[in-house]
Amino acid sequence: MDQVRPILQSHPHWPAVEAIYHRLTENGYKAFLAGGCVRDALLGVKANDLDIATNATPDQIEGLFEKTINVGKVFGVMRVLIGGADIEVATFRNDGVYQDGRRPDNVEFSSPEEDAERRDFTVNALFYDLENHQILDFVKGQEDLKKQLLRTVGDAKKRFTEDHLRLLRGARFAAQLDFAVEPATLAAMKELSAMVKTVSGERLRDEMGKLLKAKNVPLGLRILQETNLQEALFPWRGPDVEWTAYSGCEIWQNLSLFLRKAQDSDLQKSLDLLRLSTKERRGIEDAWNLWQNPEAFLSQRLGFQLQLLQKPGKLWALEVLMKEGLHQDLILAVLTTFKSFGEELPKPFLSGEDLKGKLQGPAIGQCLQEAYNLQLEGQLKDRAQAVKWLEKYLH
Ligand code: ATP
Ligand code: MG
Repeated sequence: MDQVRPILQSHPHWPAVEAIYHRLTENGYKAFLAGGCVRDALLGVKANDLDIATNATPDQIEGLFEKTINVGKVFGVMRVLIGGADIEVATFRNDGVYQDGRRPDNVEFSSPEEDAERRDFTVNALFYDLENHQILDFVKGQEDLKKQLLRTVGDAKKRFTEDHLRLLRGARFAAQLDFAVEPATLAAMKELSAMVKTVSGERLRDEMGKLLKAKNVPLGLRILQETNLQEALFPWRGPDVEWTAYSGCEIWQNLSLFLRKAQDSDLQKSLDLLRLSTKERRGIEDAWNLWQNPEAFLSQRLGFQLQLLQKPGKLWALEVLMKEGLHQDLILAVLTTFKSFGEELPKPFLSGEDLKGKLQGPAIGQCLQEAYNLQLEGQLKDRAQAVKWLEKYLH
């Protein structure tokens, strides 16, 4: 049975999990691995995090371990810091009534069965009993895993109405796992899609970020479209917009691809909605601007191009165009030169000091810019050459 254990054991946090498990069981509590890590192990994949579920309450967890962090005691979520690892240890609970479409008014600590029932999808509701190495499955999650189906635990409409974020999680997990969404679950997503508008910008950013770097992004996007979730969030993004195969490592890079064909005002609306950091926003805008008119970028002199590539969004946009085969020779030349400088462009040989008393106003900037362009283009090799050049320039 136990093909799951070697995968779990290979996780760097396994020793920490064992230590927590022993401490809990020695004190008469139960401890299971729960949620995503069990799902992933059954799929033969190493999980991001190993999460523990237990019948010990947050106060009891706090009493048993030296270092704990209270993530949300009332919701039964603690973190235990042990052996350099940071492990979520959550108390079995059932969620009370949901009134705000986001979180339950209150939770009650309860049994593993009830804890499985409050989870979103059946494949996310499995436990692994660390004592007897058994999977505990109260919701037929293993059956859905085998069928590669994403299905809500219990009534889909009820579960999405409770917590609107689950609508997006549905599309995200389908894309990550490359699973079909079970028909009743999909129908409920479609019926309730407008509720997704209440999801916070941070959550939206995180979920879209995960969806856009998933195993099957086109599937996730198709689900967003079919269920009208996309229309509720990004009404401008037509169903005809193709997903490019060139995803990046960072959320903003993938969002930039998603937003690439947006009109300027729609881009701004989307960026506001997603609550991005200034850096992420700038990256997307810089890429978007370059994509609007690559020729304008490429027709500038090399020195200017190289300086612009210091902006992550410009560099990313050009790398994408390169992969797409557009202006390949031109782009390869500029990217190769840019990368030949290593981590960053060199400091300018000349500074304002060199021009003191020699030039006034905007002429100073123009002169320094010209010198820097020549330096980047390889025509001025060192400061001595730059100083000589300056003498001629001022003549
Ligand atoms: P990932 O690999 O993306 O971390 P995960 O399954 O661990 O996947 P998390 O968002 O980390 O997903 O959540 C951990 C577990 O908590 C889920 O597997 C699920 O059982 C439960 N869960 C998380 N968010 C919700 C939610 N909004 N509603 C119901 N259950 C949830
Ligand atoms: Mg997780």
